Amino acid sequence: MTNKTASVFLTLIAVTSLVLSAPVMVATCAHAEEPSNQSNSAVSETAFRVGFGERDITPPPGLPLWGYGARHDKLAVGKLDSLFAKAIVIQAGGGKVAIVGLDLGRGPTRAMMKKIRKTIADQAGIEHVFISGSHTHHGPCIELVDRKGFGKGKFDAAVAYNEKLPDLIIEAILEADAAAKPARMGIAKQNLSLNRNRHTKRKPKVTDPMLAVVRFDDLHGKPISILVNFAAHPVMTEEALLKYSADYPGFLQRKVETELHTKCVFMQGAAGDLSPNPTKNFRNVKAYGEELAEHVLTLAQSTRTEQPEKPSVKGKVEHFLFTSRVDYSNPLVVYMYQKAFFPELIRCFVDEVKNGIPAELNTVLLNEKIALVGGSGEFFCNHSNRLKQRSYLDHTLFFGYCNGHNLYFPTIEAASEGGYGASPTVSPVELGAGEHMMNRALINIYTLAGRYETLEAILGASRKGASRKNGK
Ligand SMILES: [Zn+2]
Repeated sequence: MTNKTASVFLTLIAVTSLVLSAPVMVATCAHAEEPSNQSNSAVSETAFRVGFGERDITPPPGLPLWGYGARHDKLAVGKLDSLFAKAIVIQAGGGKVAIVGLDLGRGPTRAMMKKIRKTIADQAGIEHVFISGSHTHHGPCIELVDRKGFGKGKFDAAVAYNEKLPDLIIEAILEADAAAKPARMGIAKQNLSLNRNRHTKRKPKVTDPMLAVVRFDDLHGKPISILVNFAAHPVMTEEALLKYSADYPGFLQRKVETELHTKCVFMQGAAGDLSPNPTKNFRNVKAYGEELAEHVLTLAQSTRTEQPEKPSVKGKVEHFLFTSRVDYSNPLVVYMYQKAFFPELIRCFVDEVKNGIPAELNTVLLNEKIALVGGSGEFFCNHSNRLKQRSYLDHTLFFGYCNGHNLYFPTIEAASEGGYGASPTVSPVELGAGEHMMNRALINIYTLAGRYETLEAILGASRKGASRKNGK
């Protein structure tokens, strides 16, 4: 979210309305699935299969736009380009994971996620899912619901769209699952200077420079799809243009698709404090998207794909309930937010956070080598940098805006600088919440990889040793 006006405004009111008690880390794991690697009779235990599916999710004109508070509830008047939900489903060693890129501002709402998870599990046995908004600031508001004061009556077109959206995402995922075929994969990465830190004044200004490209081919070498993971706010389309657009990720995906005759899925990274940093002659949305695409193409074309030695999908989903730095039970606070954005949107938001900030973390270990981690918000880049440094795996990819949206997760030290994205106005979650989630992700990765010793195993090994010594 980007809104300087709203930010200044809200900073004033937030100062007087913070919950004054020191934030206490009470992250509770309300729901944590055990690592799963359950066998599915439809898939051979040794198979590695990948499929792609998509749906056009461009809304009709007439929905409020998401991303800039200063627009308030102004309605979109058309589109610059189409928005898509694009899904890759990986079937590996009996497990399945769906990776979905949305040309929307945020990941699906909690109610949407509940429906999507249940349906793809029931109908296709897909237990693990990452659904990330690209964070385009030219998508529709997906929070509004069929309830008076929360959208109904005033924004009926948006309510109708939001009710249909999960079905379209489900259709894309099921289509990808049904299309899955024996596959090979390869990953290539490159560090770029095409993003910049827009928040910190501390030098050197940190970024997450990693562009990661995952290429999936069929067994004849024909690309099934290309997954792109990079972190930069998609805010290059003019704010005043009240039209839907996928922003730079749209241009990126279209160029890759045209050049490689395949499908491209963009997964936004930890872009909470990162803006685009185009080189001199690429300073517009199309040029920047296509500049990134050139790097994607080079990486994709140089990547050797192969069938994984140990195909497998193991994963874990965790829910947290963090304390809030903002007191949303204070009517004055809520009124000020409503002025800064618009009342129906804020009522939907407050309804979700009135008992705490409900964050979600997803961790998947793919083929015993690749970690996929998704967090439900705008994570600052040092969260993903540190996770990548600490995981000691071949590849660790971080997806932001994933499976929900709880606004900004600055690092502890970034929060100490204040400013947009770090202050409680748009980062209500308690201090240290992002670090706590990344620690959990790291523990999940090592647990899923079987790297932790258990006391039982240590005792078992010492008993065996003693037996050998005694000649038994
Ligand atoms: Zn943002």
